[in-house]
Amino acid sequence: MGRTSKDKRDVYYRLAKENGWRARSAYKLLQLDEEFQLFQGVIRAVDLCAAPGSWSQVLSQKIGGGHVVAVDLQAMAPLPGVLQIQGDITQLSTAKEIIQHFEGCPADLVVCDGAPDVTGLHDVDEYMQAQLLLAALNIATHVLKPGGCFVAKIFRGRDVTLLYSQLRVFFSNVVCAKPRSSRNSSIEAFAVCQGYDPPEGFIPDLTKPLLDHSYDFNQLDGPTRIIVPFVTCGDLSAYDSDRSYPLDLEDGSEYKYTPPTQPPISPPYQEACTLKKKGQLAKETRPQETPISIVDVLSQPLAVPPCHT
Ligand code: SAM
Repeated sequence: MGRTSKDKRDVYYRLAKENGWRARSAYKLLQLDEEFQLFQGVIRAVDLCAAPGSWSQVLSQKIGGGHVVAVDLQAMAPLPGVLQIQGDITQLSTAKEIIQHFEGCPADLVVCDGAPDVTGLHDVDEYMQAQLLLAALNIATHVLKPGGCFVAKIFRGRDVTLLYSQLRVFFSNVVCAKPRSSRNSSIEAFAVCQGYDPPEGFIPDLTKPLLDHSYDFNQLDGPTRIIVPFVTCGDLSAYDSDRSYPLDLEDGSEYKYTPPTQPPISPPYQEACTLKKKGQLAKETRPQETPISIVDVLSQPLAVPPCHT
């Protein structure tokens, strides 16, 4: 694959590099903000699952002078004005570290673009994604101010209504949003939860998953039957993320390749790339198959069970 082929196939990937964003995901948050004015009045924000950092870039630009805490399993290149924590958001120790930063000064906005490594087994992937979302929600219940906002990636799978119900326990308004820059072919969408308003008597507890709390789900009318509104965001005339565009689309000027804004600092595939450069990457070898001719096939006894009449 040539250096420019991804530029051709994915207009948001290309625009992200040209505009200095570390990842194309920046456009998802920008388009969500166009629809929901997420950054209005925000001073403190948490970016969960933040690497390589394009959402943190957006946050720090949009809430200039504010305070952003970014967390990811992976190391992330530094960003001015963004405090970084490397850790797993499903782990108690990471959650405690995040919460420490907000003691006495709650956050206005918590975002989570977390995605576990996809296994290809849809049920497993959806389950893992839901667990990540619940871990993020658990952290949000500790750091969000009343009325605060939580935005998280969600997979619109079979059991998504249960997740919506859980979110509705804590937020007065929950919408499922699909930005233009998120491919239609992907089941990814974003739960935009506004108006943090936990049930009376709710005490955030990191040691228990939210599902185990004894608050009464029945306070909602049919908790597994909640239908949340679905909106698409980003101008309809914005680029379609499933289409390929010609490389000279902007103003007809000659296309120039732009390298990624911030290449990954220690990607898991680094070793394979180094070996490949040195020509030391072993290729999978398949045992040579002996060609079988039609004559061989026809001369074999037929494997048909005897017919008993
Ligand atoms: N929003 C980011 C941006 O704009 O640059 C992109 C996020 S990327 C789609 C998903 C991230 O989730 C990965 O960097 C991955 O390391 C992180 N992640 C997945 N599981 C995690 C976990 N349990 N704790 C922390 N980060 C996690």
